[in-house]
Amino acid sequence: MQLDQATVEQLREWEAELAGQYQTIVAKQLNLDVTRGKPSAEQLSLSDTLDGFLEGNYQTDNGTDTRNYGGIDGIAEAKRLGSDLMGVPASHILVGGNASLTLMYQTVLTAYQFGLTGPESAWKNIDKPKVICPVPGYDRHFTVCEQLGIEMITAPMTATGPDMDAVEALIKADSSIRGMWCVPKYSNPTGVVYSDETVDRIAQLGNIAHADFRVFWDNAYAVHDLNSDAPQLASVFDACAKHGTDNTVIQFASTSKITHAGAGVAFMAASDANLAGIKKFLGAATIGPDKVNQLRHAHFLPNRDVLMSHMQKHAELLQPRFDAVLTALDSAFTGTGLGSWETPQGGYFVSFDTRPGCAKETVRLAAEAGVKLTPAGATFPYGQDPNDCNIRIAPSVPSVDEVVGAMEVFVTCVKLASVRQALSKQ
Ligand code: PMP
Repeated sequence: MQLDQATVEQLREWEAELAGQYQTIVAKQLNLDVTRGKPSAEQLSLSDTLDGFLEGNYQTDNGTDTRNYGGIDGIAEAKRLGSDLMGVPASHILVGGNASLTLMYQTVLTAYQFGLTGPESAWKNIDKPKVICPVPGYDRHFTVCEQLGIEMITAPMTATGPDMDAVEALIKADSSIRGMWCVPKYSNPTGVVYSDETVDRIAQLGNIAHADFRVFWDNAYAVHDLNSDAPQLASVFDACAKHGTDNTVIQFASTSKITHAGAGVAFMAASDANLAGIKKFLGAATIGPDKVNQLRHAHFLPNRDVLMSHMQKHAELLQPRFDAVLTALDSAFTGTGLGSWETPQGGYFVSFDTRPGCAKETVRLAAEAGVKLTPAGATFPYGQDPNDCNIRIAPSVPSVDEVVGAMEVFVTCVKLASVRQALSKQ
């Protein structure tokens, strides 16, 4: 289907044909959901032996009773797990509760309200602190900024990460930029891995930005490869050390999509100065994290080899679901100009760009046909996709057959929305 070369008659014919196919789908009364990136029940079950794993032995190697209060930055065993996961020395890791999003929220809040390196560094001291959001991006990052009243400005994502020319230009032009969100590996939603050059340029931002500028490096998919020749992410920790910008990047990760999503362990990795800032905040907010769960996780994943072979089991469950999405997109859209997408080698999402102005209508049509998609616009700050083209597909929860069914609907809805839009322009 080449819309731009089609005559009105051809467009009408296509519309009629697609509308017929769509009605057949609606009649099936499907009830499918490809909205949120969460593990399936099968994936969660891979970690069910966590329950009772400690067999009553709650002591750490250094004799700490994990059942009691204390230990604001986590136990040594869990720092070792964080180090395996994030590739950062354990001495730079803080281990929190069950959600990295909480650590991110608390870090942005600290930077804004109290200052990570003392009160004079608080972002609230200036009129309108701003944060750069590569788009499309992760909606919950945007919600953190929105709730704290921090203005978001966008920079486009490319196949190698954020458009660094655009990011550097923004920072040079506006001294009130104080932060930037990044999902460096299998980015949510585009699935790309930042190139070595992008990682290096991000590490250098500390040399051109304000001293209180911080990159929130959300490495949620650090070990979530779908295949063994998945791309490597360069170490931003090493790059910052090389460029003398240790304070610039604060890293986050968790076991949410490794063990139990709602009952995992979260980590952050940062310079001594940043860790001191966040610990001051945490010390007021809690007497300590859930160290029992930290110890359980550390014993369940005792080294990097065990961690990676556990992730292999996730990959075996996820790969056929991603294959179903990508095969459907390939056979429906390659060479048609009706949409574009990346082929992720890990993570939880496939991001699809329709022709401008067709995403909302596609999502609406799919919903009417019983397939729930993430609302169009959710991948942009304030829910506003200026081109109305991005749709995030999250195939992990439905069965493979359900993903195949959902993609049949998706493909038909994209085509129908595109043809109707082309007709409306005639
Ligand atoms: N970051 C990203 C990029 C995510 O996609 C998600 C979950 N969808 C999270 C963070 C949430 O992580 P956690 O469960 O550790 O809060």
